[in-house]
Amino acid sequence: MFATLSDRLSATFKNLRGKGRLSEADIDATAREIRIALLEADVALPVVKQFVGAVKERARGEEVSGALNPAQQIVKIVNEELVTILGGETRRLRYAKNGPTVIMLAGLQGAGKTTLAAKLALWLKDQGKTPLLVACDLQRPNAVNQLQVNGERVGVPVYAPEPGNGVGNPVAVAQASIEEAKRRLHDVVIVDTAGRLGVDAELMQQAADIRDAVRPDEVLFVVDAMIGQDAVTTAQAFLDGVGYDGVVLTKLDGDARGGAALSIASITGKPVMFASNGEKLTDFDLFHPDRMASRILDMGDVLTLIEQAERTFDAEQAMKAAQKLQGQGGDFTLDDFLEQMQQVRKLGSLSKIMGMLPGMAQFRDQLDNFDEREIDRIQAIIQSMTPAERANPKLIDGSRRARIAKGSGRQVSDVNTLVDRFFEARKMMQQMAKGGGMPGMPGMPG
Ligand code: GDP
Repeated sequence: MFATLSDRLSATFKNLRGKGRLSEADIDATAREIRIALLEADVALPVVKQFVGAVKERARGEEVSGALNPAQQIVKIVNEELVTILGGETRRLRYAKNGPTVIMLAGLQGAGKTTLAAKLALWLKDQGKTPLLVACDLQRPNAVNQLQVNGERVGVPVYAPEPGNGVGNPVAVAQASIEEAKRRLHDVVIVDTAGRLGVDAELMQQAADIRDAVRPDEVLFVVDAMIGQDAVTTAQAFLDGVGYDGVVLTKLDGDARGGAALSIASITGKPVMFASNGEKLTDFDLFHPDRMASRILDMGDVLTLIEQAERTFDAEQAMKAAQKLQGQGGDFTLDDFLEQMQQVRKLGSLSKIMGMLPGMAQFRDQLDNFDEREIDRIQAIIQSMTPAERANPKLIDGSRRARIAKGSGRQVSDVNTLVDRFFEARKMMQQMAKGGGMPGMPGMPG
């Protein structure tokens, strides 16, 4: 996501590096390049104009001319303006004070609404809520069933009209679901509504009727980021037809340019509240404009990485590993190494993880081409060792290496590389433990 924009902007900033003062021509050239970068990323024209205008005006001002490092100051300005167009502060869900919080989803068919309903339910469940999913998409033949299947997968009950009960009346279903939620003490109700292929007055009216019947605390407009500029047009149509409080962007994983994400908040005046970036039901999170801006500028998104790690890792195991590292790095075995690798893997693909670290844009090609199966190969090698060898890798001599290579279907040289790297890593850990802690993260660019 945002790869082209990221690359373009870094190239622009590179040209400024080392300049003690920025001339009017430097500022114009920079503004022009930023404009091209945004247009190439498919950002809506009015947003591009506003953005470039703001950067240019600020670049001419005191904060840059008086700065010791003007290039760095420009990066700071672009970062702040990116946060602004992405919607400013993170907008969190508002929960009702009394009774269940009602969240209604609206959007085009295929936007990913039904998938999103389940993702949101899971996310809420993880926050300690007890959501109820409501199937009001009675238009698309399989929608109710799809919600039921997904609801089961995330362990959240689904309220749906009885099968065989005709087409049903989505307004009545929505209304009844609120009563059901009160009876069963659910604190959040997620209402999935019927989508439409295009902007269609009748279905838009149906969504408005459901809205009036259940008086939602939040209406969320769900939109597929891959449809680019059309996302902005559709967002405007739904704003006029149904109205909503916030936007959910789906399929951000498939959108290399990111134009919809960058345009929608400015054009509609409604914040992007959540982003969905994969087919897995856990590929979903709050949308943080500041973190997104950081990622675009290749300053990394370490906060998200930490949060994901906290959610994914077994706390006790992590603690044990940390103690081992801190206390006596020498005890670190190939079993620990394997265990750590398996834990990190739960976070997602290596390229996804690395993409969240600062300064990784330059390695994007390598990351994209990284063969995730390499990790399987390493695992296979370790698993072909005896428990004694894993606990004490010094045992692994020439003949053992040949046996391990045979057992894992690899070459002896692969085993050699793995063992050498393990010893190197362990040495580094011991040094770090002595030196008191992990090395710092690389800083901001510039
Ligand atoms: P609805 O018609 O709006 O209810 O859309 P669905 O929930 O049925 O989703 C349409 C398709 O998009 C399905 O194949 C989903 O698996 C897929 N999908 C949904 N969200 C995402 C996402 O964030 N990333 C990707 N890659 N696919 C998604």
